[in-house]
Amino acid sequence: MTIIMDGKSVAKETEETLKLKVNKLKEERGFVPILATILVGEDPASATYVRMKGNACERVGMKSIKVELPETTTTEELLDKITELNSNNEVSGILLQHPVPPQIDERKCFDAIDVKKDVDGVTCLGFGNMSMGEKAYGSCTPQGIMRLLEYYQLEIEGKHAVVVGRSPILGKPMAMMLLNKNATVTICHSRTKGLENHIRSADIIVGAVGIPKFIQGDWIKDGAIVIDAGYHPEQCGDIDLESCAERSVAYTPVPGGVGPMTINTLILQTIEACES
Ligand code: NAP
Repeated sequence: MTIIMDGKSVAKETEETLKLKVNKLKEERGFVPILATILVGEDPASATYVRMKGNACERVGMKSIKVELPETTTTEELLDKITELNSNNEVSGILLQHPVPPQIDERKCFDAIDVKKDVDGVTCLGFGNMSMGEKAYGSCTPQGIMRLLEYYQLEIEGKHAVVVGRSPILGKPMAMMLLNKNATVTICHSRTKGLENHIRSADIIVGAVGIPKFIQGDWIKDGAIVIDAGYHPEQCGDIDLESCAERSVAYTPVPGGVGPMTINTLILQTIEACES
């Protein structure tokens, strides 16, 4: 029987545990975790994501500080704001919403976030620590996927995992997380030759391409674990799920699979940062 990896339910269930943790912090230490979100510019999709993150904080009893900076913000101005939040002892986690306007050096700004507050897993140091198997907050989407695989007790060790996409927030950390769990990992990208053949040999396939239904169902072998990280306005992901879901051992639906786990992981990691 095919398992539907229901990220929406898993996230909801986790929120109940997180509420208890926040309550405990409030009772024992007299404060609740605070997530600082930074939104630069007026991109409507980014504004929606930041709002959703703020709402998720509220649902578990946490607070969020919303920093909104104008489209014309310079790298130096953003760095100053990050430095201020780094030294604010009340702030447990900092989220800089990607993407920032083009005049800003995004990598420099991400890396200015104190690694102890890097609850979105975007710093090079955090990525390095995670890759080395040291303590680190994982990039939220791949970390959320790992949590789903664990929740549904899906075996990773010894499996051939094919990750399509190598972005710093998704494909690359995903590959390292699967490698750390002893999968044999192939990373594919826009210059990969023979993509279909790589995918045909995958026991675990992760679609993180950013093109609607790019990965065809008939490229995916029977009995694979199918993870679709993509999300598009037409309510589909990066994999043509209809043609492979039933043949898979387990798959993430779109919507309601990977998406809800991303914000849930951000909240979970902010609470962990507060507890530590
Ligand atoms: P991205 O930064 O645009 O990266 C896309 C990756 O796909 C790149 O590595 C690119 O290769 C590769 N690619 C593009 N065309 C390809 C092709 N024809 N064949 C093979 N590989 C190809 O995107 P992203 O930020 O990683 O996001 C990927 C998807 O995940 C999107 O659908 C996005 O909406 C979704 N997403 C979802 C969440 C969530 O919370 N659910 C969070 C983040 C992203 P190159 O490196 O060679 O250019």
